[in-house]
Amino acid sequence: MGDEWRRYLAQQAELGGAEVILGEPRTPETPAAPMPTSLPADSAARRSGSPASTELTATATSSTEAGGPTSTSAASAGERTTPGAEPKWKKGAPPIPGPGLVILSPAPVLLGNDLGALESIEAVAERIRTTYCCELCPHRTNAVPGEGNPQARLVLIGEGPGATEDATGRPFVGQAGQLLDTILEAIDVPRTSVYITNIVKCRPPQNRKPLPDEIAACIPYLHRQLDLIAPKVIVAMGGTAGEALLGVRKSLGELRGKVHTYNGIPLIVTYHPAALLRNPNWKKPTWDDVRIARQLLDR
Ligand code: URA
Repeated sequence: MGDEWRRYLAQQAELGGAEVILGEPRTPETPAAPMPTSLPADSAARRSGSPASTELTATATSSTEAGGPTSTSAASAGERTTPGAEPKWKKGAPPIPGPGLVILSPAPVLLGNDLGALESIEAVAERIRTTYCCELCPHRTNAVPGEGNPQARLVLIGEGPGATEDATGRPFVGQAGQLLDTILEAIDVPRTSVYITNIVKCRPPQNRKPLPDEIAACIPYLHRQLDLIAPKVIVAMGGTAGEALLGVRKSLGELRGKVHTYNGIPLIVTYHPAALLRNPNWKKPTWDDVRIARQLLDR
């Protein structure tokens, strides 16, 4: 086995890939087919001869049926609902899984830098834009505090800004961001209804993973943002976001497939959209994860 393959397989294991497809790994130069058509389709299942989406529809149980979505709350939050009709995303959606880790965020008074005194999302954003908290800050073009609905029911959290985000000051506006928009559309959640942010608010050089001390310095902002927004559901995209929010060292494979609890708020961990661009194999599990999050929103 060549070095390139070894690195590819190691990366799969690290990112929690449940299966390994022995084909050429996709590179960012060969982007995945656009969603939603490609994301819901279970291409991996079709290849392996396991049930196609119609059979999945028949066997899946939806945990929202008992509680039932209230179209008023969803509609007022901006999620699209079609009264009386089963939404497309719900076909073959997996049931809501069992509980995972339960964590409490630090009390605002422990966040430092008087963050607890910042009473609005805009005040936190302004603080992020006007201060340095770690070695990443002096090298930024723009800090990227996050954007979206300050009363969002769904908050999505990535790792850290990339080049386009650094240039614009906005989260998830590059290639991974376009994929995220498609994913949100596919679960009938407009981007404008959610809040999107990152673990670290300044771009790490060459898009490397943020270091533990950079995360430690920056994460109080995120805790305060979550405190102020108080969403109904949180989605952590990628292992870095999952680990940092939950305060554990675990693989993405270990963190996926459970409903964790952050300060009483259900938290789902899934793949980072950039990982899906590299490996379309992960689209199906991601599609399952986001449909779990969507059901939690309706609960
Ligand atoms: N990747 C991230 O984790 N965050 C962004 O904002 C963009 C890409």
